[in-house]
Amino acid sequence: MVGGGWAGLAAAVRAVETDADVVLYEAAAQLGGRARGVRIDGLELDNGQHILLGAYTRTLALMRTLGVASDTVLARLPLTLRYPDGRGLGLPPGGPAWLGCARALAGARGWTLTERARLAAAALGWARARFRCDARLTVQALCAGLPAAVRELLIEPLCVAALNTPARQASAAVLLRVLHDALLGGAGSSDLLLPRRPLAELLPLPAARWLAARGATLRLSARVRRIEPQAGRWRVDGEAYDAVVLACAPSQAAPLAAASAPDWAATAGAFAYEPIVTVYLRSPGARLAEPMVALHAGPLAPAQFAFDHGAIGASPGIFAFVVSGARGWVERGLGATAAAVCAQALAAFGPAAWPGGLECVRVLADKRATFRCTPGLVRPAAGIAAGLVAAGDYVAGPYPATLEGAVRSGEAAVRLLAA
Ligand SMILES: Cc1cc2nc3c(=O)[nH]c(=O)nc-3n(C[C@H](O)[C@H](O)[C@H](O)COP(=O)(O)OP(=O)(O)OC[C@H]3O[C@@H](n4cnc5c(N)ncnc54)[C@H](O)[C@@H]3O)c2cc1C
Repeated sequence: MVGGGWAGLAAAVRAVETDADVVLYEAAAQLGGRARGVRIDGLELDNGQHILLGAYTRTLALMRTLGVASDTVLARLPLTLRYPDGRGLGLPPGGPAWLGCARALAGARGWTLTERARLAAAALGWARARFRCDARLTVQALCAGLPAAVRELLIEPLCVAALNTPARQASAAVLLRVLHDALLGGAGSSDLLLPRRPLAELLPLPAARWLAARGATLRLSARVRRIEPQAGRWRVDGEAYDAVVLACAPSQAAPLAAASAPDWAATAGAFAYEPIVTVYLRSPGARLAEPMVALHAGPLAPAQFAFDHGAIGASPGIFAFVVSGARGWVERGLGATAAAVCAQALAAFGPAAWPGGLECVRVLADKRATFRCTPGLVRPAAGIAAGLVAAGDYVAGPYPATLEGAVRSGEAAVRLLAA
């Protein structure tokens, strides 16, 4: 395995289950890749706030394999998209998600009857079309007929949260696939799963222990520089292996594969990326109305969501404000973004919501957080060459760049090698 993110770890675990001798190379000093823990001021935080969904079935199955109790490390909440003023939707707990949606729509606060009726009609239309549409359509075009309030309060935040791409550029087909799996994937599939523990404890550390206990070799701080074929095998920096799973991000996989598979490398190297910024704020004694609150984002207000780590059952008094599709804010600078988020938090919730004041703990930005999920995007296939297979959230598949996409591709890579 080359890469110890969630894709590489999923591949390593499933490969060990097939009795393969696994050696995993990871360039960083820790496992986890773009979903890893970071220690800041004595706090165990993450490189960015992550949300999982009940529909992440393969990720949850992998956690079970590793002996991780998902009910302990994740807070499970019915899908809710409510603003500080109470407007928005909240699904009732339990039961099929589509029924919950119907009830949530009926009980949506602050929406007119026309807005609810037009959204219900659009949703029925998407369901009748089996949540499929023309691959060239953007989310903005798909939802052009919806009232402005529905687009601004529901579709746009949902789209940027799921695809990390603004609705005007995002692929409608991919968003519909996410909605399909969340709404029709069975009981609990639309639930939000919010990490109570640092991401490292959800998967990377348990996977490292599990792999080490079964004889796999983990090489940290080991950046692979060269992968080349030799007599039906693959040499990784001079060491020969029967097969290689290339589980780094596409910008790192492309140069490693370029000599053996130039066409594949050109496709992998052609992605455009979108940043995500997470601003961690501290306010002792403060509590939001919900663990996750939607926010009105705009030219002066960067964040689309705020997370109350105390309400989730993680660190009380710590709040993560998330700016997805953050290209413009990264260009303005992280200091300016942090200041704008503090002003947004004060304006959105009111100064009384922060009795202990507001302090910025840290601003974290990942400039290449995910690929930009645009209509008709061509993504490279898993198969690179005989015995050389790619895994990662970017590999061709129906999902946007997510933990679930990464885990599924890692598992698929092992199946492909076995076949
Ligand atoms: C801030 C942020 C917020 C996010 N929020 C969410 C969310 O809420 N929900 C969700 O589902 N997803 C979210 N994502 C996306 C999710 O984190 C990724 O889809 C997922 O982590 C990708 O995993 P991966 O294994 O495919 O790639 P990566 O995590 O990029 O792993 C690749 C690994 O390969 C290593 N590597 C690279 N080159 C080499 C080399 N030459 N030799 C050895 N090792 C190498 C890297 O160091 C890295 O560890 C978010 C991402 C970010 C950055």
